[in-house]
Order: sequence, then structure tokens, then C-alpha cells
Amino acid sequence: KPNVIIIGAGIAGIASALRLRKQGFEVDIYEKNDYTGGKIHAFQDKQYRFDLGPSLFTLPHLVKELIELHGKNPETYFNYSKQNETCRYFWEDAIKFTAPADPDDFVKSASSIFDEDEQNISHYLKSTKDKYELTADLFLKNSLHQSRNFLNKKALKAVVNIQKLDLIKSLHEHNKASFKNPKLVQLFDRYATYNGSSPYKTPGIMSMIPYLEMYDGTFLPEKGMHDISQSLTKLAKDVGIKIHLNQAVDEIIFDQKTAKAVRVNSEIHKANFIISNMDIYQSYQTILKKAKKPKLNLKQEGSSSALIFYWGINKEFKDLGIHNILFSEDYKKEFDHIFNQKAFYEDPTVYINITSKIIETDAPENCENWFVMINAPADGKILSEEMIHKIRQQIISKINRVLKTDIEKYIEIEHCLTPKDIEKQTSSHQGSLYGMASHGKFSSFLRHANFTSQIKNLYFCGGSVHPGGGIPLCLLSAQIVSDLIQNNNDN
Ligand code: FAD
Repeated sequence: KPNVIIIGAGIAGIASALRLRKQGFEVDIYEKNDYTGGKIHAFQDKQYRFDLGPSLFTLPHLVKELIELHGKNPETYFNYSKQNETCRYFWEDAIKFTAPADPDDFVKSASSIFDEDEQNISHYLKSTKDKYELTADLFLKNSLHQSRNFLNKKALKAVVNIQKLDLIKSLHEHNKASFKNPKLVQLFDRYATYNGSSPYKTPGIMSMIPYLEMYDGTFLPEKGMHDISQSLTKLAKDVGIKIHLNQAVDEIIFDQKTAKAVRVNSEIHKANFIISNMDIYQSYQTILKKAKKPKLNLKQEGSSSALIFYWGINKEFKDLGIHNILFSEDYKKEFDHIFNQKAFYEDPTVYINITSKIIETDAPENCENWFVMINAPADGKILSEEMIHKIRQQIISKINRVLKTDIEKYIEIEHCLTPKDIEKQTSSHQGSLYGMASHGKFSSFLRHANFTSQIKNLYFCGGSVHPGGGIPLCLLSAQIVSDLIQNNNDN
């Protein structure tokens, strides 16, 4: 049987393994950490459980599909619930908005809070849907880098409707032209951060991002986000995929432009096909040193990183839901700091995720597990203790101003994750959360392909390559890679 070696047990690595196993390949995953899941990880401190990385789960059917593919009952592996609100938004002038999950309710409620015409909001949501439907198959579900994918009806339809795609304006300009209330503009601008981009630099086509939340919904696994990677790891083991932990791949060995094997410590493991789930930048820097670097792809600006505090809070905040955003007063300045000045902004937008609102066992009684995150520049710098302390104070004072509280006195447990920690733990270049930022109208084409024409039988999956970062897109990259390998093997 042909065999595949996968470097990295991130979500895309595991998903690729599951798909290829189903196609009859022998699959080995080599993972440098002593756990699987990469950025999807968790930890426990006393009675508090924290998801370390992702907190927002969309398109759960992409996970379910992998379980069904192996003929198993999804419910015995992975359970999740749909949320009836997507996010609670807060501003310093006491305006609050709880966004209902149902699009019609969203329109009604947003119209009354922001004094915006219902039809206007409805029209905007419909345009997010149109954009998604026009482009998803073309841009997200196929390799963009093969001309045959552009010679079909769907591609033609997208080209005919190119005006609708809003490629020229920035997302912010698009939103500003759509709404008169700056708060609603800010709310829709925030979706740029779902792939670590700035709304002032990402094109208007990214207004399709809310589609996933608005029409498909947001979800939470019953055992927390960590269960996404852990349930798939269990399935991988059950179907005979070999996962080797604490085994960092040092080199991909290729000969006459064909990938042949990987070197782990001093051992050589041969393979018919090799997939790197490692960050693309780091792949070329470390395990593909002898390969020619695709300068154009690697020159692309990285996505933002994050600074996160995990707080055990010994109080319940009734005003907060599972996802909460405390908006910065000057969004433009905030993004200018993160992407242009590569600095932290003094009045950051603060995201608070509290899974104990739904999963009661995630915190002791009358307490909450707060995941408090701000956007950070991905510049690879180590933050000094003084700097972390200063940013922590800025976050605390923002929370105190908006929620009218004195949060410090309720913090009984604290951990912190910096961009450098993210880089160390997952080899993500400079701690970027989503690989490359989607800045500029050609960013989708500049993201590295799922293969390289330079080296045969070598493939790439995960958040730093096509179609992009975030759990759903990583799962789609696994689908693209497994299809490419299957075609290659058949021919
Ligand atoms: P990664 O998770 O990056 O894993 C790569 C794996 O490769 C790691 O396990 C690493 O140890 C391993 N590896 C690296 N080098 C080697 C080597 N030489 N040998 C062997 N193994 C190696 N997405 C969402 O959808 N929703 C969110 O709310 C969200 N929020 C996020 C918040 C944070 C703080 C972070 C960090 C990310 C967030 N994301 C979110 C993004 C999402 O987590 C990632 O896009 C996704 O998990 C990346 O998966 P991946 O398959 O690319 O691999």
C-alpha cells in the first residue's frame, strides 16, 4: 500500500490523515509536541478549564463529515450545540448589543439598537450570502493554483459577477458605504479579524465572513473546543493512523525533485507522499532548507497574533455571554498600531470568551473561566515583564470602564500566552494566528498553494496555506490535499 507521512498533528494534519486513511493509504503523523491538536489545545488549573487557542466554532459539519466518512456514529465521538446568540458587543458609552443567531432577529434587533434601516441590514446580510455562494466553491474548496479549476461554470459565474465581489474597496470602506451608524460599521469591520486581517486593508469581499455565523450559526463542543482535536485524534487512532508524539521532523529529503522521506532525529522514514502541516514559512526555513524559497508567497504580511490572559474569576457576570467584545474607541488607530506600527494600542478591543456560561464544569460554582484576548502584532518580539504588566493594566482598565467593575479583585487564577509562546508551541511564524493576512485583492492568489511544482509528492495543509487560517479553512485544506494526492496516486 502507498504510504503518507504527515508532519504535524494540527487540525489539518489530522483531517488529512483521516481522509487519506479512508482512501487506503498507510498514514504516519510525526508531531513535535507531546500532544496533538497544535493550536487547539487546553489546560486545567484547579477547577478551571481553559481552551488555549480557538474559541469560535463554525461549520461543525466539516468535523462530523470526517467521522461519518469512516462509517462511525458522530455522536459517539463528538457532540456540540448551536448557540442562540453569536456575540455580545459593548461600547464605552453604555451601548450594548446581543447579536441573535437568527438572521431575521438580528436585523430587527440591530435596527432598533443602531437606528439603522431594517432593509439596509437585510440587504447587507443577503450580499454576504451571495458573495459566499459565488466564491466558496472556487476559492475555498479547490486548489486555486491549477488552471483547470478556472475553466468551469462556477468560475465563469464569479467572473461575470465580479462587481458584486467588492474587490476594490477595503472592508471598512464597504461597510461605511453600507451603514450610517459607525458602531454597526465597527461591528461588521471586526469580521476582518476572523482571519487575522485589518478591515482597513482587507478587501470588501471579506464581508462574506459573517455568512458563516449568520446563516449556519456558531457552535460549542460539549467538552469545549479542545474536543475538536481530541475527538478526531481518537478516531485517527481507532482507524489505524499512527501518531508519533515528541518526534520533530528535522528535514524533508528530496532527490531529483521528488520528496522521498523525512528525517526524525537521525532516522530516515520513507514515504510515497509527504504532507507538511507545519507553518509554511517555518517549513521552508527549517525542514526544506535545500528547496528554493517561494519569495512572493513568503513575503506576504503575516496575520495578527494575540496576547491572552486566562483568568479564573470568582464572580458571575450576568451581562456577559459566551463571546463578548468590548470595542476600542478608535478602531482605525488600533489596527494602525497592530499592522503598521507593530505595536500594542493603549485602548485595545478586548474579547472575553467564557465557556463556563454553557459548560458548567469549566469553572467552580458561581465562578467563570475568562479567556481574555487582544489582537497583537505578529513581529516575533519577546515581550518584557514590564510590557506585559502595562498591557494587562490597559486591559483591566478597559474592562472596568465598560463593565463598571473592579475586575482585579475577582481574579483568583492567572496565566498568560504571548505571541512568542504561540510561535514556540506551534512553530507559527512570529506567532501569527492565521498564517498570512488577507490584505489586498490578490492575497488569495499569493497564499502558498497546497503543493509545490518544485518538488513532486510534497503537499502542504493548514492555516498558513490555501485556502487560509481558522478551523473550517484548515479542514478544507485537508480535503484539497487528500484529493490532490488521490489524483496523483491514480495517475
Ligand atoms: P497548527 O495548529 O498550527 O499545528 C501545527 C502542528 O505542527 C503543531 O502541533 C506543531 O507542534 C507541529 N509541528 C511544527 N513543526 C513540526 C516539526 N518540525 N515536526 C513535527 N511537528 C511539527 N480559528 C477558528 O476557527 N476560530 C477561532 O476562534 C480561532 N481563534 C484562535 C485563537 C488563537 C489564540 C489561536 C492561536 C488561533 C485561533 N484560530 C481560530 C486559528 C486556528 O486555531 C488555526 O487556524 C488552526 O488551529 C491551525 O491548524 P493547523 O492545522 O494549521 O495546525
